[in-house]
Amino acid sequence: MNMIARDVLAGNIAQLVFDRPGSSANIFDRQTLSELERQIDSVCADNPRGLIFSSAKKSIFVAGADLHSLAEMDERELREYIEQGQRVFDRISSLPFPTVAAIHGACVGGGYELCLACDYRIATQDRATKIGLPEVKLGIIPAWGGSTRLPRLIGLPKALDVILNGKILAAKPANKRGMVDELAPREYLIQAAVAAIERKASHPPAKRLVPGMILRPILAGKLEKETRGHYPAVFAALDVVTRAPGSSVSKSLALERQHVLKLAATSACRNLVSLALRQDKAKKRPAGDTKKIERAAVIGAGVMGSSIAQWLSARGLQVVLRDIDASRVAAGMKNAAKLYDQAVKRHIMTSREARDGMSRIIPAAAPVPLKRTDLVIEAVLEKLDLKKKIFAELDSQTESDAVLATNTSALSISEIAAATKNPSRVVGIHFFNPVHKMQLVEAVVGSATAPEVRDAAIAFVQRIGKLPLVVKDSPGFLVNRVLLPYLIEAGHYFENGATIQDIDEAMLDFGMPMGPLRLIDEVGVDVAADVADEIAGAFAQRLRKPAVLKQMIEAQLLGRKNGHGFYTYRNGRAGKVNSDVMQFQTGKSAAALTRQQLQRRMVLLMVNEAARCVEEGIVDGADDADFGMVMGTGFAPFRGGPLAFADSEGLPRLVEEMRKLEESDGERFAPCELLKSMAAREQTFYEKRRTDLGN
Ligand code: NAD
Repeated sequence: MNMIARDVLAGNIAQLVFDRPGSSANIFDRQTLSELERQIDSVCADNPRGLIFSSAKKSIFVAGADLHSLAEMDERELREYIEQGQRVFDRISSLPFPTVAAIHGACVGGGYELCLACDYRIATQDRATKIGLPEVKLGIIPAWGGSTRLPRLIGLPKALDVILNGKILAAKPANKRGMVDELAPREYLIQAAVAAIERKASHPPAKRLVPGMILRPILAGKLEKETRGHYPAVFAALDVVTRAPGSSVSKSLALERQHVLKLAATSACRNLVSLALRQDKAKKRPAGDTKKIERAAVIGAGVMGSSIAQWLSARGLQVVLRDIDASRVAAGMKNAAKLYDQAVKRHIMTSREARDGMSRIIPAAAPVPLKRTDLVIEAVLEKLDLKKKIFAELDSQTESDAVLATNTSALSISEIAAATKNPSRVVGIHFFNPVHKMQLVEAVVGSATAPEVRDAAIAFVQRIGKLPLVVKDSPGFLVNRVLLPYLIEAGHYFENGATIQDIDEAMLDFGMPMGPLRLIDEVGVDVAADVADEIAGAFAQRLRKPAVLKQMIEAQLLGRKNGHGFYTYRNGRAGKVNSDVMQFQTGKSAAALTRQQLQRRMVLLMVNEAARCVEEGIVDGADDADFGMVMGTGFAPFRGGPLAFADSEGLPRLVEEMRKLEESDGERFAPCELLKSMAAREQTFYEKRRTDLGN
């Protein structure tokens, strides 16, 4: 099986074309690296005028290392794999003739490290072209020469920004930073590469190299603050990148190897690689042969509806955006236009693409019929009666085979579906806020949802570039159900005298992207209160809504959206703790809890609820529960999710701790049956291998 085709162009210019058989992607597994070594031997034997690297795939140049084998390799195999990649790319960098990377499509990780070993890089300005080094997001560093060569190419500050943040950029900003030397239309890519070889084009090395020794301590302090010490890869990257300009390539490559082998053995790396594989699985989850969705309608042009309409129209769908009057529809259209503007500013699309996308949204200020609509997504207020009324009307407004979906956060899909004549065509398609940033979408299967409707929902979510998670209909589904006990616990601790800083910092220390009170502000205190009503109402024996939410709504402290919540906000940015909220702090019982105690309690509640969701079959196993929580809430990704975290702590120990808290603090800490029975048998959610290595 050949992964690389060799060609000779006019004027004795060699071309190696990556084209992995039977796949839409190219990756650097061991076999491809070996073939690349052999192909370079053959190219050299022909003594060409130059060599062009390109790809035959529609949207991928080379997507990087092979994550599956990375997850399986032992230390010796990994060492050989790293050495092999370094050796091949080093060889490319010292070939006696000009080398040019002709990049179209995703060119990330190892794919871009190959380009860095070339003399010159040309990229298409296509939306599919994305360039960068995301390794730190997998808990490792670029170790096929990327950490060594990028600072030499573009200078230390810019290289640090790309590598430490694991950035992936569109072609234009990559070109601006010097990561690629030239942009070309796709049709002329190879022609431009030939021209570059003919004029022996090469990128001048970065002019003035800022001494790494000066930058290192400043950045180390900043990174320590940002990562709270949870991401060892960024410190390793900082070490190699700042030393690179002052040392020889071979020394720097040796340092890359040394760090990457150590990092690959950490639980952080294992969890992050598993997460990347799980994302891939969600993208490719087979959904059967389903009805293709071309035309959609979104009912409700508020925060969610308008953002969903924008996302769908940007992916080529025609979307009717309906609300109750012209001013609300206009506000929704304005929000969609704003999202398009932002996408253009970030080079995610051209202004022409944005204009075309916007023109695919059809505003409707009345309950127009929705004939020829394949999918309706309802996103009106979170009120069951209103939703039922809308679904009852959809019977006569839509064709009988249209899929009817609701974006409800926590209401029962089955109850909403019961309002229609044919509940089998109703499904939940639950997007998260902000729609353009959150990749996860819960596909909620109601008691009457037909399998082909569930499959159509999964295929639709995949088609619009989101990651589906199939969940059973139950209050809050997975993500909100697990999140809610944690958020209301934070509310209780606040009411009872714990400081806002201690509560939020405790969870930032754990690795959450923001603290729970800050998150309530972000979601909106009123929205959080609605969801809390629904979920705490359904599980009233253990969940009690804190009074502070209602008090804050009455005092018009609604969170970030109106500038006042647990924090005050200026231009949308969180500032100081809001002193107006302190009047609602009436108790003292939580005042003496340390950050460590607060953290432990809040985390245990999430572990317990996630285990319950597995126990009740809301999700299809621990893997789905963890994936949902990491993708839907940013649950400390390096910990792998609440149940992987539970494994790493040991279930018997956690269950024991919960029992003690149950006695001292109440029933909400009582471990669920699944945790108790697994702890009694010393079982784990995952095979041992995943968590047996400490950081
Ligand atoms: P929102 O208040 O911003 O928007 C609701 C819109 O529905 C309003 O514009 C309103 O005029 C419109 N509406 C009301 N009755 C209507 C009718 N009969 N026909 C057409 N439009 C009507 O609310 P939102 O935050 O966008 O939430 C919408 C849904 O999405 C809710 O079910 C909510 O639970 C869910 N959700 C919200 C979030 C979030 O963070 N905001 C996240 C996920 C899901």
